[in-house]
Amino acid sequence: MDDYLREIQGKTAHDPYHNIIKSSSSSKRCVWVPGPVIVGAGPSGLAAAACLKEKGVPSLIIERSNCIASLWQLKTYDRLKLHLPKEFCELPLMSFPPDFPTYPTKQQFVQYLEAYARRFEIRPVFNQSVVSAEYDKSVGVWRVRTAAEAEYLCRWLIVATGENAEAVVPWIEGMEEFGGDVVHTSRYKSGGVYKGKKVLVVGCGNSGMEVCLDLCNHNATPSLVVRDTVHILPQQMLGTSTFGLSMWLLKWLPMRLVDRFLLVVSRLLLGDTGRFGLCRPHLGPLELKNLSGKTPVLDVGTLDKIKNGDIKVLPGIQRLGQQSVEFVDGRTENFDAIILATGYKSNVPCWLKESEMFSEKDGLPKRPFPNGWKGQRGLYSVGFTKRGLLGASMDAKNIAADIQSCWSAEAKHLISPISCPYFMQKHTDDVVFSD
Ligand SMILES: Cc1cc2nc3c(=O)[nH]c(=O)nc-3n(C[C@H](O)[C@H](O)[C@H](O)COP(=O)(O)OP(=O)(O)OC[C@H]3O[C@@H](n4cnc5c(N)ncnc54)[C@H](O)[C@@H]3O)c2cc1C
Repeated sequence: MDDYLREIQGKTAHDPYHNIIKSSSSSKRCVWVPGPVIVGAGPSGLAAAACLKEKGVPSLIIERSNCIASLWQLKTYDRLKLHLPKEFCELPLMSFPPDFPTYPTKQQFVQYLEAYARRFEIRPVFNQSVVSAEYDKSVGVWRVRTAAEAEYLCRWLIVATGENAEAVVPWIEGMEEFGGDVVHTSRYKSGGVYKGKKVLVVGCGNSGMEVCLDLCNHNATPSLVVRDTVHILPQQMLGTSTFGLSMWLLKWLPMRLVDRFLLVVSRLLLGDTGRFGLCRPHLGPLELKNLSGKTPVLDVGTLDKIKNGDIKVLPGIQRLGQQSVEFVDGRTENFDAIILATGYKSNVPCWLKESEMFSEKDGLPKRPFPNGWKGQRGLYSVGFTKRGLLGASMDAKNIAADIQSCWSAEAKHLISPISCPYFMQKHTDDVVFSD
């Protein structure tokens, strides 16, 4: 009997799974996930799960919110439609329904994602915000902890928390004095509540431009702060989508030539945007996107409102006063509300304890597209390409193929704790095995 105990003690000292559980004892619940853990149930996380499923690899999605695609369902304005035509936004393995319009509404896009999750039987764990994920070298697994004090253990970790995980809210001098509403676009639903009000929209990306249009349509009086140069392109040109045409031209022509073409046609269709305070950058729209990730604005009618004076273009803000805004050119104007269309950022550095794959500075993969999807020790990223849903789909396919190639061999090893009677006897109270 003593010999038996000594043997068990000797084994447990070197048993990686024993050590995993021992050091997890502070967590309320510990879950062993045989396949990859995916953090985030947005389109990217769903695409990764579906591609894995198709290859026979089970996965588990952990999502902080109470629904899939929380960015689309909870943080976008009512009038939002996909900015790009549907053929460039569909996820792998399932097309949009043929009766959907070229630019589906956000409600249609969410319907599509819900059908997608149903079709691939993706059932994320909701209301679990990941607060840390760290590779445990001693046992070769990722420890993923949530705010609810659960710990998930996995061999592969897929980061799918998105480029838009947190709103960027700039600090503006005098903000506390302003007194009116100051909201980020992630909380803006419709211009209806601003009817009859003077509203300053800060930021001239796609969201800022569209919010201005929405405000006009609801009889508010918007002004737009434009601090930087910006490329505005018509959403459609020569009877087709500008994005689709650009992609097609890039197959035959160098980027600079395609840029030149886009700018000539835009000038013919939109006129000189610089005349209205919207000066173009020196680099062309595609080259700029490629180098800096800055997306050109696809105009859906805002420019006409700027041209006819319904939307005033103003320079950068110097400081805020009581319901007033002083601009860098010395002008001061009164406003009832300010809407910050100042974008989003990744939250990866807040929770992923790793410094090789992701940059601390912007929370994006350090390796440029198309190689940013794979890190070390079973770490992957999906949806950080600055190329929207198209980029996410490419990542998801690459990740699934890569994991599948080692899944069969690794799965055998990973099943060992479940099949080990000693492990089961000792740890069944502490550990839950995900199916
Ligand atoms: C207004 C707007 C319009 C857009 N239009 C288009 C378009 O037409 N075409 C296109 O290709 N792209 C578009 N985009 C880009 C858009 O970001 C992507 O289409 C898409 O939403 C990216 O999917 P994702 O899954 O990578 O990120 P998200 O959709 O942001 O999903 C990430 C998920 O991760 C969750 N999460 C974050 N942190 C944690 C955590 N710590 N723990 C657990 N869960 C977490 C979030 O709650 C979220 O559900 C648009 C973006 C915006 C803001």
